[in-house]
Amino acid sequence: MISLLSLSLDEIKDAVKDLGFKPFRGEQLYTALIKGIAVDKISTLSKDFITVINQKYNLTPLRLKTKLESQDGTIKFAGVLSDGNIIETVIMKYKYGYTVCVSTQVGCRMGCKFCASTRGGLVRDLDAGEILAQVIMANTIIGERVTNIVLMGCGEPLDNYANVVRFIKLANSSKGLNISIRHISLSTCGLVDKIKMLADEGLGINLTISLHAPNDEIRKTFMPIANRYTIKEILEACDYYFGKTGRRIYFEYTLSTLNDSLDNARELARLLKGRVCHVNVIRLNEATGALTASSTDKAKAFVKELNRSGISATLRRSLGADIEGACGQLKNRLEDEV
Ligand code: SAH
Repeated sequence: MISLLSLSLDEIKDAVKDLGFKPFRGEQLYTALIKGIAVDKISTLSKDFITVINQKYNLTPLRLKTKLESQDGTIKFAGVLSDGNIIETVIMKYKYGYTVCVSTQVGCRMGCKFCASTRGGLVRDLDAGEILAQVIMANTIIGERVTNIVLMGCGEPLDNYANVVRFIKLANSSKGLNISIRHISLSTCGLVDKIKMLADEGLGINLTISLHAPNDEIRKTFMPIANRYTIKEILEACDYYFGKTGRRIYFEYTLSTLNDSLDNARELARLLKGRVCHVNVIRLNEATGALTASSTDKAKAFVKELNRSGISATLRRSLGADIEGACGQLKNRLEDEV
């Protein structure tokens, strides 16, 4: 059953009308749901109304299961979906406000060796309302509204394209959560055709590419998607995205012993030279045990070499290190890009 929150306000009003109620009842319901008010606590709506809507739409897509709070203020929570699947969401606190990192799928089929989300393969896509419900739950947990969203949790967002684009539009809608499009970032392992489609949507969200290697040979050793798309194709898609949106592109580069030499840094710099971009370097979290993290010294030297070669790059610190161990799935990363 589709989540009611997958619909826009206008669509909800139509749906409510089709079920024989006044459209403004739909607005009351929607307003309550996006505020995180539980269905049985909505005093303005009758039980009958809720029962009828509930037969057609899922009104409680996500229930809070556990919440972990880190010393540095990062909060990770697990939510249970209606079918019993569990997803994770992370809330990070910055000077400018809160950022929520949402999951877009249960599991993932991309198979990156270092990533724990992919362990059991793809279970299913989330619908737009299930992604939105994570943001609403984050607001409820912190008692204020998050200002930024990163689609960087479990799953490959562009492998769930239609639901993700719908979610972005809903989150951005002035009748919905009203989150600025400039404050929404999507991270992808590089599904070239979908990057181009996203460019054509004209949304202008920030695009982050999980590049992690300066050439295809290295990339193929830990990212199966590298057998499908070359780095050259990905960069062409990025150029297309930049051409359409004017947004600078972000690259994620996770450092392990497989990709952390100064030669690797110089090769990466040659690759990105001339592009309006920024590289976020982060030391690998050894979540799966398949790859070995680089030392902090190596990471600093890598970033320095990139900078020396004229590439804008920073070393990110992992947030919530003390709560990550609980599952090793979601990476809590500093994102000053949004
Ligand atoms: N599938 C998307 C989004 C989810 S992964 C993508 O590939 O971008 C979000 C980010 O976390 C990606 O940059 C991913 O490469 C990174 N990541 C996953 N596992 C990690 C780990 N063990 N250590 C550091 N970063 C990791």
